[in-house]
Amino acid sequence: MLRDAVPDVPMRKLQVALKMLVDAGLVEKAGKMLHLLPADDLHSHAAQAAQQYTEREERDREILGAMVAYARSGQCRWRLLLEYLADTPEWERCNHCDSCRHARDAEMLEHQLQEKTVGMPKSESLPGFTVGDRVAVRRRGAGVVEAVTRERVDIRFPDGSLRRFLPHYVRRLKHQPGPPPQEQAA
Ligand SMILES: [Zn+2]
Repeated sequence: MLRDAVPDVPMRKLQVALKMLVDAGLVEKAGKMLHLLPADDLHSHAAQAAQQYTEREERDREILGAMVAYARSGQCRWRLLLEYLADTPEWERCNHCDSCRHARDAEMLEHQLQEKTVGMPKSESLPGFTVGDRVAVRRRGAGVVEAVTRERVDIRFPDGSLRRFLPHYVRRLKHQPGPPPQEQAA
């Protein structure tokens, strides 16, 4: 009995290991009997199985990393999903997912607070940015203004990404070089 051969290994571990061996085709189960592959086949099969497990582990780690980024990111869930599926959408936000709703709520709240503290009528609060301005945002670094409204500034970053910010967080860089460095349109 296999059980007697390795008495120190817990039963459950043994069952899992056995299942892996059967799945990998290294062991054949016939009723209560276990047949090991012939030695030659065994070797190549084992190498192949090990390779598969390594690949699966790497894939699992990649997926896990993507999931963590997805959960942590305040970005649009749909956009992230589509990007993951190698289809980058033209829009930044779907405005339907929870992340977009949170972002919108946060923007509105932020905006209300801003108006309260500044005490400015809405029509006068146009941010002092123009398209093409070199600007910087904390943590994201420098970029170029691509669109401006009263509530937001869209900034294109050197990595090609377009992100939306409250004007409050955007700071115009003193140094404004001639034509803005345009990334090649993707
Ligand atoms: Zn969304």
